[in-house]
Amino acid sequence: TAGFDVEAVRRDFPILQEQVNGHPLVYLDNAATTQKPRAVIDAISHYYLHDNSNVHRGAHALAERATAKFEAARSTVAEFLNAPHREQILWTRGTTESINLVAFSWGRNNLKAGDRILVSAMEHHSNIVPWQMVAEATGATVEPIPVDETGTLELAALETLLEQGQVRMVAVGHVSNALGTVNPIDDIIALAHKHGALALIDGAQAVSHWPIDVQALDCDFYVFSAHKLFGPTGFGVLYGKRDLLEAMPPYQGGGEMIQSVSFAGTTYNQLPYKFEAGTPDIAGAIGLAAAIDYLNGLDREAAAAHERALLAYAEEKAFATPGITLVGTAAHKVSVLSFLVEGTHPNDLGFLLDQQGVAVRTGHHCAQPIMEQYHIPGTVRASFAFYNTSDEVDRLFEALEKARQFF
Ligand code: PMP
Repeated sequence: TAGFDVEAVRRDFPILQEQVNGHPLVYLDNAATTQKPRAVIDAISHYYLHDNSNVHRGAHALAERATAKFEAARSTVAEFLNAPHREQILWTRGTTESINLVAFSWGRNNLKAGDRILVSAMEHHSNIVPWQMVAEATGATVEPIPVDETGTLELAALETLLEQGQVRMVAVGHVSNALGTVNPIDDIIALAHKHGALALIDGAQAVSHWPIDVQALDCDFYVFSAHKLFGPTGFGVLYGKRDLLEAMPPYQGGGEMIQSVSFAGTTYNQLPYKFEAGTPDIAGAIGLAAAIDYLNGLDREAAAAHERALLAYAEEKAFATPGITLVGTAAHKVSVLSFLVEGTHPNDLGFLLDQQGVAVRTGHHCAQPIMEQYHIPGTVRASFAFYNTSDEVDRLFEALEKARQFF
């Protein structure tokens, strides 16, 4: 793509030089986790080499440095999401923990028998199971918003579900990890609010593709994982509207989250610390901030255009290859190609691709309900990041052709 120097960008990601099974690595599993630029790896090792200390309590220089970097990271994320206040950015272990936090803290306090929670039929398990658990505890129910054969969420059906009343929460993915569908979350959030429900957006698969503005979206909660944004694993973010977070009880108890503890009664800390019990993943926050700084240094529009071109090229090749069926053909998609090859099982194909150095994911992608709806065991999923190239798309299709000869 004009204006985007993919070879220069690739040099920022050391792992892309790896050889796998005797072949140069072709990493097409970016929806599972993204690779890390040297800037992120360096920021984390610099922290451990020079600043390592516990945060918020030390009376010494390292503790001050660690705290300053840790809290600066919160400001970086607040700016990245355009959150009104940095206190509305809570650190978690990732998307999964962020959703569990809302489900348990908000859900247990606000849901009662007969209340309804809507999630889309193509959600990741992490945006289904926490709601089922809190539904079981409160007598609420979890219902799917229908998704059609192309992988498009049916907005009219969502409206019908909302009109039936008592929906308290609409929790949907911004982008489906299994199909690549981009959901019309502006409309979904507006519809939820019109009917008195809150809206939680699982941004795990969206944040790496374009800038997010939580104020423009007006979502109540927005969650994502650092590792899908070129940052470290096991770290993530929960953004919430301030009045909601203020009213929610702590999710876990321990150090950091208290104001004062006594056997006569304990009081809780202010936002965001009320939700951050225990010593946090300090290096995780620093690594995430470094990833965001790295992204901010790219031409993100050019990166997105490059990804769109990769998807278009891959789709063209898929259409030209007999026996390939695409799963997920929504009009608005990110660079995810989920597919089946006639006469082969996705897992066998994944193995044969790996033998040729091509890394994809196979299986149900933690989205079993939509696989069940489509009557398939899973798919082969190639997911592209801005550091992938059209040569790598060629390598994928060459490897698929070789794999097919094997069957
Ligand atoms: N939601 C979506 C849409 C995802 O793609 C993923 C990761 N595959 C998750 C949630 C869970 O993220 P994590 O495992 O980092 O908590």
